Amino acid sequence: VDIKQALTALHTKIKAIPHKGSRASYIPELSHVDPNKFGVFLAHLDGNGCGVGDYQEPFSIQSIAKVLSTTLAYKLGGESIWSRVGVEPSGTAFNSLLQLESDLGIPRNPFINSGAMVICDILISTLENPKEDFLAFVKTISNNKSLKYSTHIAESEKDVGFRNIALCNLIKSFDNLDNSPEEVLDFYFNLCSLEMTCEEAARLFLYLANDGLALDQKTQILTLSQSKRINALMQTCGFYDESGEFSFKVGLPGKSGVGGGILAILPEKFAILVWSPRLNDKGNSYKGMLFLEEFTTLTEQSIF
Ligand code: GLU
Repeated sequence: VDIKQALTALHTKIKAIPHKGSRASYIPELSHVDPNKFGVFLAHLDGNGCGVGDYQEPFSIQSIAKVLSTTLAYKLGGESIWSRVGVEPSGTAFNSLLQLESDLGIPRNPFINSGAMVICDILISTLENPKEDFLAFVKTISNNKSLKYSTHIAESEKDVGFRNIALCNLIKSFDNLDNSPEEVLDFYFNLCSLEMTCEEAARLFLYLANDGLALDQKTQILTLSQSKRINALMQTCGFYDESGEFSFKVGLPGKSGVGGGILAILPEKFAILVWSPRLNDKGNSYKGMLFLEEFTTLTEQSIF
């Protein structure tokens, strides 16, 4: 099957399917996004790529950025970070407080909100200028100097982020934060506010298809073993309490965000980014999941 043809045919087919779900309106700024946007970009390791639909329009990557924060914390802190945050699927919602209480403040994994906050705390303690240095790291691996935080999305989320504020304080109460909840939340909301296009994001995450090596084939962003582990975490924990379902239907490691983006990786081959803002009730893009399910079925490209 020709990949370009498959992408185009599936984009047309799934665009025409009736919509289900709605935008993440709990973040006011995200409820202004056109819900009918639908873009896909597939970036190959050989540098080629192809896109369909709204793939050149920037969108809020939200939790997909948690892969980047985990990458940098792992790179700088090595295995020690896993004493502060686990590597198990949570089976609960991305912003659940329940499990955190019974797990005594050790989040299940770095891709749910609580886990991402602990990773932010590690980065704040490790980096001299956390927000600036993190952004510089992302710019380096993406080779895209124009990337920036979206201040209005970060502020919009901060204003109504009562549940995230509660999560962060709960972690602090269990002594699993070295910095103040205010600092951690500020970094966390900025992390989630990163905006990029499907094409930029697919190209940026190619290091995870390339054994941790940047596209210049020289810079080792993660070691081979670390890259394997980040992919393993995406496979088991990338979709909140729908991680099993995504694995079952799509068969690729991936990560979703409430902006409607889904990243998926086929190691040694490609990174693909699908964006469609309407979310199912688990917080994952409804059409994004459908697209990837049909894509791996049609092209027979999955890790299994
Ligand atoms: N900023 C969002 C939140 O904390 C991220 C959630 C997500 O994309 O999973 O609620």
